[in-house]
Amino acid sequence: MNVTHLECALCGLRHEARVLLNLCRECGKPLLVRYDLEQAQRSLTKQSLVGRRADLWRYLEVLPVDKEEDIVSLGEGWTPLLHTRRLGDRLGLKELFIKDESQNPTQSFKARGMAAAVSMAKQLGAKKLAVPSAGNAAGALAAYAAQAGLECFIFMPRDTPCANVVECEQTGAHVTLMDGLITDCGAEVGRRKEAEGWFDVSTLKEPYRVEGKKTLGYELAEQLNWELPDVIVYPTGGGTGLIGMWKAFDEMEQMGWIGSKRPRMVTVQASGCAPIVRAFEQGKRFADEFPNAATTASGLRVPKAIGDFLILDALRDSGGAAVAVSDEELISATAEIGAAEGLFCAPEGAACLPAVRKLMETGQVKSTDRVVLFNTGAGVKYLESFDH
Ligand SMILES: *Cc1c(COP(=O)(O)O)cnc(C)c1O
Ligand SMILES: [Zn+2]
Repeated sequence: MNVTHLECALCGLRHEARVLLNLCRECGKPLLVRYDLEQAQRSLTKQSLVGRRADLWRYLEVLPVDKEEDIVSLGEGWTPLLHTRRLGDRLGLKELFIKDESQNPTQSFKARGMAAAVSMAKQLGAKKLAVPSAGNAAGALAAYAAQAGLECFIFMPRDTPCANVVECEQTGAHVTLMDGLITDCGAEVGRRKEAEGWFDVSTLKEPYRVEGKKTLGYELAEQLNWELPDVIVYPTGGGTGLIGMWKAFDEMEQMGWIGSKRPRMVTVQASGCAPIVRAFEQGKRFADEFPNAATTASGLRVPKAIGDFLILDALRDSGGAAVAVSDEELISATAEIGAAEGLFCAPEGAACLPAVRKLMETGQVKSTDRVVLFNTGAGVKYLESFDH
């Protein structure tokens, strides 16, 4: 609403807002949305939030749509932040919370990003949307494109969880299953988009998904009465949510809502696909493509992320960490969280649990820390992953 321009996250080049853009025209890196925050905070105050709509659009002044009528919504965001005491007791953590993103439309937090991206694509005149996806992004795009009355084209690996394929088919998308990984699907979209007239809504290859996902950071602050937690544990694929939260914290500080203290940001990946963990350990700012990527946590099967440097900068600037966990660990964590808290987590979300255990063993997380885990999706979408 108060957008001033788009800015390249690497070289800083300024781009005009209100035109359909993908990446920086100079260096090909992601574009981030910049706002007139002084203008925004005239009507957006902590007090003003009381009584606003119970979805992510409650933060309208720091979201990119021009008018409320431009919003394409299925009721995304404003998910519960659960104080998980029984799980906390098991770990020896007094203040353990799970932000339960499985309660979003299409049962994952991809709904946040796609609500914003599809709203903007429609506002700016796109007619056909395309996306490569490891699973949940596809389901979310299909749903929001249908809601917007836009056509959408989805490319997924053939071994994507069945629920993701079926939900796309049942919400009117054109679905193509490919041999290979999300990176191969992305290359296919890249090859064909010009001829087909598709707008590419890949993670961080357009500026608005990250805006939808940054509301995770606003909600966390609001739900914790404007005091950020000590540690945030985030299952990382493309990194949109982590990058978005980091951006939200800066915006909130500029508006005087929080101070300069930041949570330690922790990336969790599967040991079968851990490019960010590897780069973090090697002290690199850009991550190499992870060879032979494999994990049952399909949302983490992202061998190369275009926003790698933004993730790695946030981890390092926050004094955070990057942890890999095995598929065995994350699958058994699903049952442990389920039995303790009654939440059937996506394997990606469950991966946060063994990661916290490892960080407690090394002393990087202390028993007095306030820790937030992200359950990014619903376990029911991954029935193939579980023995029964
Ligand atoms: C996509 C996805 C992730 C990874 O999210 P990024 O923002 O791409 O890092 C984690 N969990 C689930 C369930 C997902 O669908
Ligand atoms: Zn650039």
